Amino acid sequence: MKNVVKINGYRIMSTINKEEIEAIGDAHASSATETPLRADAFDKSDDEKIKNIQHHFAEIMKELGLDLTDDSLSGTPYRFAKMYVKELFYGLNPANRPRTSTFENKYGYQKMLVEQNINIDSSCEHHFLPIVGNAHVGYIPKDKVIGLSKINRLVDYYSHRPQVQERLCLQILKDLQKTLGTDDVIVVVNAKHLCVSSRGIKDKNSFTTTIEFGGKFADPIYRNEFLGIIAKGDN
Ligand SMILES: [Zn+2]
Repeated sequence: MKNVVKINGYRIMSTINKEEIEAIGDAHASSATETPLRADAFDKSDDEKIKNIQHHFAEIMKELGLDLTDDSLSGTPYRFAKMYVKELFYGLNPANRPRTSTFENKYGYQKMLVEQNINIDSSCEHHFLPIVGNAHVGYIPKDKVIGLSKINRLVDYYSHRPQVQERLCLQILKDLQKTLGTDDVIVVVNAKHLCVSSRGIKDKNSFTTTIEFGGKFADPIYRNEFLGIIAKGDN
Protein backbone atom coordinates (compact mmCIF):
# COMPACT_ATOMS: atom_id res chain seq x y z
CA MET A 1 0.00 0.00 0.00
CA LYS A 2 2.39 2.63 -1.26
CA ASN A 3 0.07 5.58 -0.76
CA VAL A 4 -0.48 5.06 2.93
CA VAL A 5 0.95 7.85 5.04
CA LYS A 6 1.78 7.52 8.69
CA ILE A 7 0.83 10.19 11.22
CA ASN A 8 1.90 9.51 14.81
CA GLY A 9 2.44 5.91 13.81
CA TYR A 10 -1.13 5.47 12.51
CA ARG A 11 -1.75 4.53 8.93
CA ILE A 12 -4.08 7.02 7.34
CA MET A 13 -6.22 5.70 4.50
CA SER A 14 -7.37 9.04 3.13
CA THR A 15 -4.60 9.14 0.52
CA ILE A 16 -5.89 5.96 -1.15
CA ASN A 17 -8.52 6.52 -3.78
CA LYS A 18 -11.68 4.40 -4.05
CA GLU A 19 -10.39 2.20 -6.90
CA GLU A 20 -7.31 1.34 -4.87
CA ILE A 21 -9.48 0.49 -1.85
CA GLU A 22 -11.51 -1.94 -4.01
CA ALA A 23 -8.34 -3.41 -5.53
CA ILE A 24 -6.80 -4.12 -2.12
CA GLY A 25 -9.99 -5.91 -1.06
CA ASP A 26 -10.19 -8.01 -4.21
CA ALA A 27 -6.51 -8.96 -4.08
CA HIS A 28 -6.82 -9.76 -0.39
CA ALA A 29 -3.45 -8.11 0.04
CA SER A 30 -1.95 -8.20 3.49
CA SER A 31 0.93 -6.07 4.64
CA ALA A 32 2.52 -8.07 7.48
CA THR A 33 2.40 -11.24 9.58
CA GLU A 34 1.26 -9.23 12.57
CA THR A 35 -2.29 -7.92 12.64
CA PRO A 36 -1.97 -4.15 12.10
CA LEU A 37 -2.99 -2.69 15.45
CA ARG A 38 -2.94 0.86 16.77
CA ALA A 39 -0.58 1.65 19.64
CA ASP A 40 -3.58 2.46 21.85
CA ALA A 41 -5.56 -0.64 20.81
CA PHE A 42 -6.30 -1.82 24.35
CA ASP A 43 -6.26 1.42 26.33
CA LYS A 44 -10.05 1.35 26.55
CA SER A 45 -11.98 -1.34 28.39
CA ASP A 46 -14.25 -3.74 26.50
CA ASP A 47 -17.27 -1.99 28.03
CA GLU A 48 -16.11 1.40 26.71
CA LYS A 49 -15.56 -0.08 23.26
CA ILE A 50 -19.02 -1.68 23.26
CA LYS A 51 -20.58 1.66 24.25
CA ASN A 52 -18.76 3.55 21.48
CA ILE A 53 -19.34 0.94 18.76
CA GLN A 54 -23.03 0.79 19.76
CA HIS A 55 -23.25 4.55 19.13
CA HIS A 56 -21.42 4.40 15.78
CA PHE A 57 -23.38 1.40 14.52
CA ALA A 58 -26.67 3.08 15.40
CA GLU A 59 -25.52 5.98 13.21
CA ILE A 60 -24.78 3.58 10.33
CA MET A 61 -28.22 2.02 10.67
CA LYS A 62 -29.87 5.46 10.72
CA GLU A 63 -27.85 6.47 7.66
CA LEU A 64 -29.26 3.41 5.88
CA GLY A 65 -32.72 4.74 6.70
CA LEU A 66 -33.66 2.27 9.43
CA ASP A 67 -36.04 3.28 12.20
CA LEU A 68 -34.31 2.49 15.49
CA THR A 69 -37.47 3.07 17.49
CA ASP A 70 -38.80 -0.21 16.04
CA ASP A 71 -38.76 -2.93 18.72
CA SER A 72 -36.97 -5.39 16.47
CA LEU A 73 -34.16 -2.94 15.61
CA SER A 74 -33.71 -0.98 18.82
CA GLY A 75 -31.40 -3.49 20.47
CA THR A 76 -29.35 -4.22 17.35
CA PRO A 77 -26.58 -1.62 17.88
CA TYR A 78 -25.85 -3.06 21.34
CA ARG A 79 -26.01 -6.69 20.14
CA PHE A 80 -23.73 -5.82 17.22
CA ALA A 81 -21.18 -4.01 19.41
CA LYS A 82 -21.07 -6.79 22.01
CA MET A 83 -20.71 -9.44 19.29
CA TYR A 84 -17.77 -7.57 17.72
CA VAL A 85 -15.84 -6.99 20.95
CA LYS A 86 -16.62 -10.17 22.90
CA GLU A 87 -17.13 -12.78 20.18
CA LEU A 88 -16.08 -12.16 16.57
CA PHE A 89 -12.95 -10.16 17.41
CA TYR A 90 -11.99 -11.36 20.89
CA GLY A 91 -8.76 -12.66 19.35
CA LEU A 92 -7.44 -9.14 18.74
CA ASN A 93 -6.56 -8.77 22.41
CA PRO A 94 -3.39 -10.68 23.41
CA ALA A 95 -4.87 -10.94 26.94
CA ASN A 96 -7.37 -13.42 25.43
CA ARG A 97 -4.76 -15.77 23.99
CA PRO A 98 -5.51 -19.25 25.39
CA ARG A 99 -2.99 -20.68 27.80
CA THR A 100 -1.01 -23.31 26.00
CA SER A 101 0.84 -25.20 28.68
CA THR A 102 3.09 -27.84 27.16
CA PHE A 103 4.20 -31.15 28.62
CA GLU A 104 7.49 -32.94 28.50
CA ASN A 105 7.52 -35.46 25.66
CA LYS A 106 7.95 -38.33 28.14
CA TYR A 107 6.98 -41.15 25.84
CA GLY A 108 9.51 -39.91 23.28
CA TYR A 109 6.89 -39.76 20.49
CA GLN A 110 8.86 -38.53 17.48
CA LYS A 111 6.53 -39.17 14.59
CA MET A 112 4.01 -36.82 13.09
CA LEU A 113 0.97 -35.76 15.08
CA VAL A 114 -1.96 -34.45 13.04
CA GLU A 115 -4.99 -32.57 14.33
CA GLN A 116 -7.49 -32.15 11.53
CA ASN A 117 -10.84 -30.57 10.68
CA ILE A 118 -10.42 -27.80 13.23
CA ASN A 119 -13.25 -25.35 12.80
CA ILE A 120 -12.43 -21.94 11.30
CA ASP A 121 -14.85 -19.09 12.01
CA SER A 122 -13.13 -15.92 10.94
CA SER A 123 -13.86 -12.62 9.23
CA CYS A 124 -12.32 -11.02 6.18
CA GLU A 125 -10.64 -7.74 7.09
CA HIS A 126 -11.44 -6.17 3.73
CA HIS A 127 -15.21 -6.64 3.85
CA PHE A 128 -15.91 -7.78 7.45
CA LEU A 129 -17.77 -10.81 6.12
CA PRO A 130 -17.33 -14.40 7.40
CA ILE A 131 -14.52 -16.74 6.41
CA VAL A 132 -15.61 -20.30 7.24
CA GLY A 133 -13.77 -23.56 6.82
CA ASN A 134 -11.30 -25.76 8.59
CA ALA A 135 -7.65 -26.02 9.52
CA HIS A 136 -5.37 -29.05 9.64
CA VAL A 137 -2.27 -28.90 11.78
CA GLY A 138 0.67 -31.30 11.94
CA TYR A 139 3.86 -31.29 13.98
CA ILE A 140 6.78 -33.51 14.83
CA PRO A 141 7.46 -33.21 18.58
CA LYS A 142 10.88 -32.46 20.00
CA ASP A 143 11.00 -32.06 23.79
CA LYS A 144 7.49 -30.68 24.22
CA VAL A 145 3.97 -31.81 23.42
CA ILE A 146 0.74 -29.87 23.74
CA GLY A 147 -2.76 -30.84 24.85
CA LEU A 148 -4.72 -31.52 21.65
CA SER A 149 -7.59 -29.15 22.42
CA LYS A 150 -5.04 -26.34 22.86
CA ILE A 151 -4.35 -26.47 19.13
CA ASN A 152 -8.08 -25.97 18.46
CA ARG A 153 -8.15 -23.09 20.94
CA LEU A 154 -5.18 -21.37 19.28
CA VAL A 155 -6.79 -21.70 15.85
CA ASP A 156 -10.00 -20.24 17.30
CA TYR A 157 -8.10 -17.33 18.86
CA TYR A 158 -6.29 -16.28 15.68
CA SER A 159 -9.48 -16.75 13.64
CA HIS A 160 -11.38 -14.28 15.78
CA ARG A 161 -9.76 -11.20 14.30
CA PRO A 162 -10.35 -9.34 11.09
CA GLN A 163 -8.14 -11.55 8.91
CA VAL A 164 -6.73 -12.45 5.54
CA GLN A 165 -6.41 -16.21 5.16
CA GLU A 166 -2.68 -16.16 4.38
CA ARG A 167 -1.94 -14.25 7.57
CA LEU A 168 -4.24 -16.47 9.65
CA CYS A 169 -2.35 -19.55 8.43
CA LEU A 170 1.02 -17.93 9.20
CA GLN A 171 0.00 -16.68 12.65
CA ILE A 172 -1.11 -20.19 13.67
CA LEU A 173 2.15 -21.66 12.36
CA LYS A 174 4.42 -19.13 14.09
CA ASP A 175 2.65 -19.45 17.43
CA LEU A 176 2.78 -23.26 17.37
CA GLN A 177 6.46 -23.25 16.38
CA LYS A 178 7.23 -20.99 19.34
CA THR A 179 4.99 -22.86 21.79
CA LEU A 180 6.28 -26.30 20.79
CA GLY A 181 9.93 -25.24 20.49
CA THR A 182 10.30 -26.69 17.00
CA ASP A 183 10.15 -25.49 13.39
CA ASP A 184 8.62 -28.81 12.34
CA VAL A 185 5.04 -27.61 12.03
CA ILE A 186 2.62 -27.47 9.08
CA VAL A 187 -0.73 -25.69 8.81
CA VAL A 188 -3.31 -26.01 6.03
CA VAL A 189 -6.43 -23.83 5.96
CA ASN A 190 -9.35 -24.49 3.60
CA ALA A 191 -11.95 -21.77 3.74
CA LYS A 192 -14.86 -20.18 1.98
CA HIS A 193 -15.01 -16.40 1.90
CA LEU A 194 -18.47 -14.88 1.97
CA CYS A 195 -17.06 -11.78 0.27
CA VAL A 196 -16.41 -14.02 -2.75
CA SER A 197 -19.62 -16.09 -2.57
CA SER A 198 -22.18 -13.45 -1.59
CA ARG A 199 -20.94 -10.30 -3.31
CA GLY A 200 -18.51 -9.32 -6.07
CA ILE A 201 -18.02 -12.39 -8.30
CA LYS A 202 -20.68 -14.34 -6.27
CA ASP A 203 -18.95 -17.69 -6.74
CA LYS A 204 -20.77 -20.12 -4.43
CA ASN A 205 -18.47 -23.12 -4.90
CA SER A 206 -14.87 -21.95 -4.78
CA PHE A 207 -12.81 -22.11 -1.64
CA THR A 208 -9.27 -21.10 -0.80
CA THR A 209 -6.42 -23.26 0.46
CA THR A 210 -3.33 -21.89 2.18
CA ILE A 211 -0.34 -23.95 3.32
CA GLU A 212 2.45 -22.78 5.60
CA PHE A 213 5.19 -24.97 7.02
CA GLY A 214 8.71 -25.00 8.40
CA GLY A 215 11.54 -27.33 9.36
CA LYS A 216 11.17 -30.96 8.26
CA PHE A 217 7.99 -30.16 6.33
CA ALA A 218 10.14 -28.44 3.69
CA ASP A 219 11.00 -32.06 2.76
CA PRO A 220 8.30 -33.40 0.37
CA ILE A 221 8.39 -36.81 2.13
CA TYR A 222 7.05 -35.33 5.38
CA ARG A 223 4.77 -32.88 3.59
CA ASN A 224 3.20 -35.59 1.43
CA GLU A 225 2.69 -37.87 4.43
CA PHE A 226 0.78 -35.05 6.13
CA LEU A 227 -1.22 -34.22 3.00
CA GLY A 228 -2.06 -37.93 2.58
CA ILE A 229 -3.41 -38.12 6.13
CA ILE A 230 -5.61 -35.05 5.75
CA ALA A 231 -6.85 -36.21 2.32
CA LYS A 232 -8.12 -39.43 3.97
CA GLY A 233 -9.72 -37.41 6.75
CA ASP A 234 -11.70 -35.35 4.25
CA ASN A 235 -13.51 -38.45 2.92
ZN1 LIG B 1 -13.07 -10.00 1.62
